[in-house]
Amino acid sequence: MGVLVYIESEDNKFKKTSYEALSYGKALADKMNVKVSGVVFNCSETDSLKNYGVDKIITINDSDYKEFSSKKYSHALSQVIKSENSSDVILSSSANSKFLGAHLSGIIDASYASNVVELPESLNPFVVKRTCFTNKAFSSTEMFGELRIISVSSNSFGMIENLSDSTVESYNVDKIESNQKIIKLEKETGSVTIADADIVVSAGRGLKGPENWGMIETLAETLGAATACSKPVSDMGWRPHSEHVGQTGKPVSSNLYIAIGISGAIQHLAGINSSKVKVVINNDPEAPFFKAADYGVVGDAFQVVPALIEKLKARQ
Ligand SMILES: Cc1cc2nc3c(=O)[nH]c(=O)nc-3n(C[C@H](O)[C@H](O)[C@H](O)COP(=O)(O)OP(=O)(O)OC[C@H]3O[C@@H](n4cnc5c(N)ncnc54)[C@H](O)[C@@H]3O)c2cc1C
Repeated sequence: MGVLVYIESEDNKFKKTSYEALSYGKALADKMNVKVSGVVFNCSETDSLKNYGVDKIITINDSDYKEFSSKKYSHALSQVIKSENSSDVILSSSANSKFLGAHLSGIIDASYASNVVELPESLNPFVVKRTCFTNKAFSSTEMFGELRIISVSSNSFGMIENLSDSTVESYNVDKIESNQKIIKLEKETGSVTIADADIVVSAGRGLKGPENWGMIETLAETLGAATACSKPVSDMGWRPHSEHVGQTGKPVSSNLYIAIGISGAIQHLAGINSSKVKVVINNDPEAPFFKAADYGVVGDAFQVVPALIEKLKARQ
């Protein structure tokens, strides 16, 4: 028995959510009194993983696995699970990992729980706490069977440093043909992406027009943050659709979410509920967003934001 963590990487770098998944895997392995291994696809920089308690790092270096494919990755993982005799597989909550979890559970006939926020409250029965209804509620879910797959909700467990003497082993997988191929991939470049951002500066219709986004970009740059927006803003073409957050847009799990001139409709809040600290700037004291905020500024964005930038720059 053992715990196996799928450690996602991009451009030879691990994501913050991968360290969170690994921290969870290590804590679960300790609770179960077993070892924790991590699987890495095509990433040469594995030293940082030793800071998170992993006993064995399994590397799959194969150009056939350069691009993510849930079919190919889940087949490869199913082989590693078998050879490592793993009982529990830990994933992050990225979109790719969630696809992978569903696919893998079908192949290995495992119980799959997504959006898990804590270690299991008991091992027998194996019961985990998960978020549901777009983070508005929690459910306790019992997982049956010999094999379990858990995807850890972003920003819930944290990154827990735990120095270890890990071994590194390479693994050759029996290949399988994918039934799809990416023929073109256009990545957003130059700025911090919403999914990985620690801080997100988001603005809504209260900004009146696209010409006023300069101060939002300056604030984001000053904080090293990603920019985001409400749905109507991207629908009107003021900002690209890639910035739209909410129920029908991207989810945000940042440590700090600053909402400027956004009313706080339920569909917007659905996408940002798992962000840790929410700061709201709105000139209407009755704006619903204040009810979800940790800090609020009632005021005109056109006065508050430049003053905030000035203060932040002075501190730098
Ligand atoms: C099926 C469905 C799905 C949806 N999905 C999403 C989604 O994923 N994401 C999303 O965002 N929305 C979504 N919506 C739309 C959502 O219901 C709201 O209409 C939308 O979030 C409102 O955007 P807003 O807050 O930018 O604009 P508004 O509701 O117009 O609010 C603007 C806010 O700015 C404030 N303001 C105005 N002037 C200033 C100023 N000078 N300084 C400071 N504050 C100012 C106002 O007080 C107001 O609170 C969805 C709706 C539906 C029906």
